[in-house]
Amino acid sequence: MTTTVVLASRNPGKVEELRRILTSVAPDLTVLGSDAFADLPDIPETGETFAENAAIKARAVCRHTGLIAIADDSGLTVDALNGMPGVLSARWSGRHGDDETNLRLVLDQMSDVPDDRRGAAFQCAAAACRPVDGGRPALEIREGEVRGHLIREPRGENGFGYDPVFVPVGHRVTTAEMSPAEKDAISHRGKALRSLAEVITPWLT
Ligand code: IMP
Repeated sequence: MTTTVVLASRNPGKVEELRRILTSVAPDLTVLGSDAFADLPDIPETGETFAENAAIKARAVCRHTGLIAIADDSGLTVDALNGMPGVLSARWSGRHGDDETNLRLVLDQMSDVPDDRRGAAFQCAAAACRPVDGGRPALEIREGEVRGHLIREPRGENGFGYDPVFVPVGHRVTTAEMSPAEKDAISHRGKALRSLAEVITPWLT
């Protein structure tokens, strides 16, 4: 019975979040992080889209481990910034930019943008790659989005990245003021991963 999948991430927070979402749909799954494979090389995110990056990472980890591999790529797209930072969300203030510096840069860039033009979205592409004997690995991709708007000063202690300035449509609180379960239920990553978990369930023979 194939019940092990490996996540293309070494970030413990990300691994925990992906594990929580996947096992909510497929409780018998054993979900390993990339740390379980010491010789796995770093995989550069060179794609132009979230889907390309998720596919690059899932394929590389699948080839290396011979296991079903799951990867996600995600970011914030801001309407008034023409969809930026997008795939550059993690590196918006430079390669070594941290979450706080990235968030401050976006707030500065948005400082003159009025309240009715502060629309934004979190977007996520999740990819699953399955090794197939004698052929190219099989790849499936699912995407998820949550729309909202950006406030002017950070609020909340939960989450990461741009969570403290993002208020989802239909809510008054930022995603950093939500519990992990509340955020999972509406989040871009929750939507993409739950949909992907249904795709891979038949792969678990
Ligand atoms: P990656 O998917 O690990 O490449 O992360 C992309 C970047 O997008 C993160 O570093 C965050 O800055 C941002 N991001 C993606 N998802 C979220 C989220 O759920 N909350 C806040 N920021 C996010």
